[in-house]
Amino acid sequence: MTVCALAELWLAQFRDMTGSLEVPWPMTGAAHRSTKFSSEREFQCPRCSKQYHWKHSLRFHMRNECGKAPHLKCPVCDYKSKQKSNLKTHVKIRHPLEFSNYF
Ligand SMILES: [Zn+2]
Ligand SMILES: [Zn+2]
Repeated sequence: MTVCALAELWLAQFRDMTGSLEVPWPMTGAAHRSTKFSSEREFQCPRCSKQYHWKHSLRFHMRNECGKAPHLKCPVCDYKSKQKSNLKTHVKIRHPLEFSNYF
């Protein structure tokens, strides 16, 4: 049984008890929020405090991103960037002839 189904059940009981169609306090969204739509991020990187919903995201971050030097290198010159969009802009401006080969 899913959390949503449980919430529905709880709600039905509440309506039976009170005869009210008004939904009380946390039931409208709490059940949803407590599952994968959680607004709380539970996994935090100990090095840079970045937060992630998922443990595997954090693990990926720690292994591949955190504390890493810029790892995207221009295929033409020695320019390096952390962000693909920056690199793209760089190639477009500096190496317009090569641009279409890479992007
Ligand atoms: Zn980090
Ligand atoms: Zn370059």
